[in-house]
Amino acid sequence: MTRNLPGLTLDELTRELSSRQRALEWLKWLGAQPALPAALPDAVPGVSHRVWGPFRTRHGWTAPRVLERSASDDGTTKYALDLDGAQVETVRIPAKGRSTICISSQAGCTRKCVFCATKELGFIRQLKAEEMVAQYLLARAEAPPDAPARNVVFMGMGEPMDNLDEVLRAVEVLTQGPFPQLKHQSVTVSTSGVLPGMVRFLSESKASLALSLNATTDEVRARVMPQNKTWPIAALLGALRDAAKTSPHRDTFVEYVLFRDVNDSDADADRLVALLSGLPARVNLIPYNPFPGTGLTTPTPERVLAFHQRVVRQGQLCLVRWPRGRDIAAACGQLVLAQDAAGFVPPST
Ligand code: SAH
Repeated sequence: MTRNLPGLTLDELTRELSSRQRALEWLKWLGAQPALPAALPDAVPGVSHRVWGPFRTRHGWTAPRVLERSASDDGTTKYALDLDGAQVETVRIPAKGRSTICISSQAGCTRKCVFCATKELGFIRQLKAEEMVAQYLLARAEAPPDAPARNVVFMGMGEPMDNLDEVLRAVEVLTQGPFPQLKHQSVTVSTSGVLPGMVRFLSESKASLALSLNATTDEVRARVMPQNKTWPIAALLGALRDAAKTSPHRDTFVEYVLFRDVNDSDADADRLVALLSGLPARVNLIPYNPFPGTGLTTPTPERVLAFHQRVVRQGQLCLVRWPRGRDIAAACGQLVLAQDAAGFVPPST
């Protein structure tokens, strides 16, 4: 089966177009487009018709259809996309001088984290690498000129480690020159802690990793992330420790969603620091973005700040990720397509 563009790596393009130069011309052409093309072009400057014609016939093009664009007061934009009948969400988050594109790796999700709205969808299908890259290309084209899309996070719908071949391919395509040429450290793959996939990712990719820890005891973690029974905290952090020895320059993040009276105590803050001691990881604290029916609530901002301070005072690098796009249900864990989730409507709609 021939793969759609933009899912081919530079080496594959080189082989298929019988020349590195032609492959580079195509990528340059793609990078110069002001919007995501709707189809493969009839011609590409620098690539002869004789070669391009058959290549174009062999390969299709993946262009997501935008079902809906929602813009938040804070500049965050959420795209509801149709990919050949599968619906996913992509989020563009502008910051000073750069934008981050948050992409989905699955339609729905293979995991069942109780605090995440995407689990309401169940698992629909795996996304292909070209469908992940196309999400980036589409959202990138709409980034403000003073905040170009230099970062990608695999933090949309889905568990990347459960679709790892396609995720690794997407990372390769996103980081290859001359376009998109993102830095490996600017591409972050986030996992709920699927240990075998995580170990493989750490050995095969130079991209950054985020582990969603979300608790400091196995008992609490298993309550909110049922898979913790298979891959408990010590095993996950052990894998990060091992990887830090072999690739010390990788950026590693530990995501910690704060739930009121569940994992936000002073004792949790102290345990978090102890668990991460000696590990070159930065902690991102994410106040829980609520949705109905979980029984979980969000700590007060004062509690979030107190937790943060307690962690930082013990020498652990740690930032609070205040929600972006909460008003359009684009914040972490709020991605779900209302029309697909039986009876479930995100709070802002
Ligand atoms: N499956 C991957 C990536 C998708 S979730 C993972 O688990 O990492 C991306 C991030 O959003 C994770 O850190 C997750 O813990 C967090 N998240 C999920 N639901 C959330 C919610 N309701 N509020 C805040 N953060 C949430």
